Amino acid sequence: MNLRTVCFSLVAVLCACISLSAQIEEKFDFYTRGEYRANVPRPQTILRFDVGDHHTTYAQMEKVIDEIAKAAPDRVKVFDIGLTSELRMQHLVAISSPANIARLDEIKALNAKLTDPRTTSAAEANSITQNNPLIAWLAYTIHGNESASFEAMMQVAYQLAASNEPRTLEILNNTVVLILTGENPDGHERFVTWYNSIATGNADRNAYEHREPWSIQGRYNHFRFDLNRDNASATQVETKNMQKAFFEWNPQVVVDHHGQPSQFHFPPAALPINPNLPQPVTNKWLDTFGRANAASFDANKWDYYVRDIFDLFYVGYWDSFPSLNGATGMTYETDGGGFKGRRWTRDDGTIVTLRSAIAKHYVASMTTLETAANNRLARLQDYAAFRRNGMEEAKTERMKRIVIDPASDRVKAAELIEILQRMKIEVSVTNSGYMSTHAHAYEKNSPVTTRACNSSCFVIDLNQPQKRLIKALLEPDTPQDESFLREEIAKFKRNEMRGKSASKEDYRFYDITAWSLPLAFGLDAFWSEDGGPISATSVTPQILASMKAGGVSGKAQIAYIIPYDTDGAGAMAIRLLQAGHRVSVTNKQLTAGGRTFERGSFVIRMSRNTEAVHEAVNRIASETGTMVVAVNNGYNDSGDTGVGSESIQPMQAPKIAMIADEMVDQTSYGSIWWTLDRYGIDFTPMTLASARGSVLSKYNVLIMPDGAAGRYFSSLGAGGVTGLKSWINNGGTLITVRGASVFAALKDVGLTSSKLVGSDDDDEKGKTADDDADKRKIAEAKPSPTPRGTPSSDGAAEPVASPEPKTDKQDWQAPVLPPIASPSANAGKVPEGIPGAIMRATVDRTTYLTYGIKSDELPVLLSSGYFFRYSKEGTNALVFDAKPKRPLTVSGFAWEGNTERLLKGTAYLIDEPTGSGHVILFAEEPFFRGIFRSTTRPFFNSILFSGVF
Ligand SMILES: [Zn+2]
Repeated sequence: MNLRTVCFSLVAVLCACISLSAQIEEKFDFYTRGEYRANVPRPQTILRFDVGDHHTTYAQMEKVIDEIAKAAPDRVKVFDIGLTSELRMQHLVAISSPANIARLDEIKALNAKLTDPRTTSAAEANSITQNNPLIAWLAYTIHGNESASFEAMMQVAYQLAASNEPRTLEILNNTVVLILTGENPDGHERFVTWYNSIATGNADRNAYEHREPWSIQGRYNHFRFDLNRDNASATQVETKNMQKAFFEWNPQVVVDHHGQPSQFHFPPAALPINPNLPQPVTNKWLDTFGRANAASFDANKWDYYVRDIFDLFYVGYWDSFPSLNGATGMTYETDGGGFKGRRWTRDDGTIVTLRSAIAKHYVASMTTLETAANNRLARLQDYAAFRRNGMEEAKTERMKRIVIDPASDRVKAAELIEILQRMKIEVSVTNSGYMSTHAHAYEKNSPVTTRACNSSCFVIDLNQPQKRLIKALLEPDTPQDESFLREEIAKFKRNEMRGKSASKEDYRFYDITAWSLPLAFGLDAFWSEDGGPISATSVTPQILASMKAGGVSGKAQIAYIIPYDTDGAGAMAIRLLQAGHRVSVTNKQLTAGGRTFERGSFVIRMSRNTEAVHEAVNRIASETGTMVVAVNNGYNDSGDTGVGSESIQPMQAPKIAMIADEMVDQTSYGSIWWTLDRYGIDFTPMTLASARGSVLSKYNVLIMPDGAAGRYFSSLGAGGVTGLKSWINNGGTLITVRGASVFAALKDVGLTSSKLVGSDDDDEKGKTADDDADKRKIAEAKPSPTPRGTPSSDGAAEPVASPEPKTDKQDWQAPVLPPIASPSANAGKVPEGIPGAIMRATVDRTTYLTYGIKSDELPVLLSSGYFFRYSKEGTNALVFDAKPKRPLTVSGFAWEGNTERLLKGTAYLIDEPTGSGHVILFAEEPFFRGIFRSTTRPFFNSILFSGVF
């Protein structure tokens, strides 16, 4: 072959490539499904750009929907469902036939009757299912930067409002379509404003438009929560808005539209599937919708996948949660837009465009609605059966009743009940004590015992329509599919045998495996096999309001005392100090005003404060739900410690800084931010570069949220670490969380005398609490000191815009299982990361960090392989017992032969006194997703007692 021929061949190949690209890039026509009513405006006429040529802002979208609704009032009705954190309005747009729109309230009311088999007979339900339209809920852009779904939504709305196509009219006659125009408006606005401002439509993966900065990250809402995890406890205002609308409309088909993977995904979902979902009916419907979508995609020659990756186990997603309410809940993932921008080069050189990704969502949405319309009756009948069958299950299952004792924190208990009531779960409160002889402690596999609740306790009977959701949220442990577990354990064993450089098999755990709300909140609870009648009253808003109320017993002459009975008490002390008032803490039991107060109670002495303190105490007590005792006599009738004693130690005002920077995990930062915000505690977010020298000296508490240990170190540098140490030596308190705690334990950092189990500098590597004899030096096992959110190397896997999640639900998970690929020589010496289980921590009740905790054990989340050896020089305030009498795993999945064996004798919470200051290490996030709250008091104590002890 001569040179000329080669050139020709190259040109031919190039031409073929170009024509292939051109074929893929062929513009999808969104307007083939007419006739269209001429008076209804197309989105483009309002937006002034073609589909996919630009990203639409939230306000522009509102204009589009508004104009369409105005032009088509016979088919369209817009409902405002509530404001976001940044005061954008969320909308639910009902679109249906004129006849249905005219009787929307009646349709809604009849549909709601299907949710209560106690008041709606089977015959009545049957009549409703025969005659009522199906309710289909299509929600878009919960991850605000998955932008194709936002654009697709407007095309779906237009098609339904404007088209007289027979298939579209069939949808309108048989269904009420509810379009949730934006699940996460704040995150979406951050993303599109940024993207539009810098984008060139460049398909080159290295282009800046594919690297969303830390402060943008439109995936998350204002407080950097992942709203597609928030249904479990509805912490965010957007979730509250959406749940309120959801339980008003009670849809039978729910689709949540996303966009991250390489190909389109629709159900059937991957294993594991939450066992509280009924089978085979759940899978039957997922298969029905999956096959219909497949037919549409095949007709368009579009790639897609089913079953792989996206599971249905964790309760907080917007597919599993609707499913646990009787809907067919589904996640659809398109393949372009978002971090891929308007154009993105795939692995094989072809281009995926924003427009093509919009087209796929549009087609999937329309196919779903057609399928829903075609299956209207059968889907409605299964929906009506969902709660009736759930109540039937309750008759034969052992778990009849869940009892929650509010004694350890009445406010937190009331908050939990509010969460449940928003989900239409009925709760009562006992009129007197309650005892069960067939009770079970709140942990997996607990035997029958006798348990009593001596005060007013919350009771949730399973014998009610929401039985399946109740179990999914509250049961102490949710079992996973056994075949799924067998496969993962087999992988673990194979991985253990592989050498250090060999690649390892990935695990398929998608999310945490434990979230049981009473455990996550740290409340005392038990469940019972007794389902008989009890003396109890339905919980009303008034009952909850009185439980959450704070107040002061009078105007104090001598002192106010705040018993540490609620999390809010700690917050109140912080707020009083931050407002310039003088607050002390008693480190011994205190007697005052004829009462005794436990160690850790806060004392506000009049002698040290101005008159202004009275108003502040009243106001903050009310805002934080704290009960404050006024003391008018300084003489203690008994005991050594009174209000004037030496054991009453003054505290300094916490001046808090928190790192907000590239190495920090967004959701970790967000959950701490949200917690401090809701308790009214002031802090200053700052970059790591700012937190130095004279700036740092203005603060006495520095919080480092979870993040990449290596990046914390490389950003600070040796000089920065030295500066940090000198600030701590001078009295600063450094609080490190998870990956930041790994940073603190790095050999070159040395902020703690604790070592990471299995790390190179772990002198006791290979040694377990069971195995004191094993003193061999093991070479080279290397637990990755790099936690989740660490960027992969540029241009590696497809979603290169790290620290972006690799797939949708994987934001925290992919790198979280610290791969800890043990060489066979180290099998069993290094902890394998766990996806998220609740573990039993033992409380050292003699240290200030645990002030306010009245129990000897605390359930804590663990979702890594980061186990910390006991600090040799500090205090180990929360530990995993070296010789536990019961398993450490309270709920969820742990690696047999690895997790518990290596976890024994390690610490969850460490106080490392350093000079005049402290380093306080949390092994895990104290407020994970806002769901976990059992370690709120230790976290507040870390802030409060700097400079005191
Ligand atoms: Zn998503």
